[in-house]
Amino acid sequence: MLILECPYCGVKAEETEFHAGGEAHIKRFGPGSSDADFEGYLFNRENPKGVHFERWRHANGCGKWFHVVRCTMTLEVFGSYSAQVSEPPQEIRDAITAKRPGWCWRDFA
Ligand SMILES: [Zn+2]
Repeated sequence: MLILECPYCGVKAEETEFHAGGEAHIKRFGPGSSDADFEGYLFNRENPKGVHFERWRHANGCGKWFHVVRCTMTLEVFGSYSAQVSEPPQEIRDAITAKRPGWCWRDFA
């Protein structure tokens, strides 16, 4: 069971309080993009064994979308943050690095 914390209202609850919304930080492609870019946007998703960035919605609470970083092997949650940012906050990246030295899923440099 995952225990998640909504960064907006501060509620910390089991995952049944929330609704999963897939991978976070996906670069979107629309009209005018190449077929390959659009296909990648529609169908390609990360499936890491380790650190994963996900979208969640506080369905039984404030209703807002946010991002969660967790480990897919241990279910350890590294933190949650607003979905209104294009990159994870530095404190989240530092928390991951402290527990998973050398982790690399996507280059946020
Ligand atoms: Zn909330």
